[in-house]
Amino acid sequence: MIADNIASINARIQAAAQASGRNGQDIRLLAVSKRQPLTSLQQAIACGQKDFGENYLQEAVEKITLLSGAATFHFIGPLQSNKVKLAVTHFAYIHTVDRLKIAASIAKHAAALSKTQKILIQVNIGREVQKSGVLPEDAEELLRKIQQYPALELCGLMTMPPLAHHPEESRPYFSQLRELGEHLQHQGLLATRSPLELSMGMSGDYEVAIAEGATMIRVGTAIFGSRVEQHSTA
Ligand SMILES: *Cc1c(COP(=O)(O)O)cnc(C)c1O
Repeated sequence: MIADNIASINARIQAAAQASGRNGQDIRLLAVSKRQPLTSLQQAIACGQKDFGENYLQEAVEKITLLSGAATFHFIGPLQSNKVKLAVTHFAYIHTVDRLKIAASIAKHAAALSKTQKILIQVNIGREVQKSGVLPEDAEELLRKIQQYPALELCGLMTMPPLAHHPEESRPYFSQLRELGEHLQHQGLLATRSPLELSMGMSGDYEVAIAEGATMIRVGTAIFGSRVEQHSTA
């Protein structure tokens, strides 16, 4: 089932890329494996899946350790100061940097490990009170301050738009994130990679996200089925 899901999502990624005149190779599928057992990740890896997104550090580190280098891991959950060292040690990318204090802490631990940590800035593009992320108008100042840390590589932006009942409802948020990213790149505040790294789109709306410029889509349930939800202790 996981194999069929990955194959059909990859086909839909290619089709969505083609429909918007993009190169399918510029779009990376992140399999969001939070609350999924190790065997599910192993099945996905056997199908050629390389990138995984995880939200809960303790749970993730167990799986990462057992897989010993077989995949690339992206941290996509809320990050607390006391967990930063663990995140820097085990994750290739951290998608959820939204304040200077966390950026400084990541930089400190990355430098200690002689690592350049790839990060994305999480933007609260829908301006929801309950959501993490820097407000769009505060992103430029945050990025300017983050430039002082050579141990950080600022790859791009990440967002989670407001919960939608139809994928088209997410489109304006995705295009706003792309426009913000282009503006910041133009200011010299983001890596000059082309296309700009944009982490957006989930199971229900990744095709719309691709049409709006997503380079990393974070897909969980459409690959693995529903999760065993429980309160986080990580
Ligand atoms: C869980 C999660 C996803 C995946 O959501 P699905 O709807 O299962 O595809 C993507 N991004 C973040 C930040 C998540 O926490």
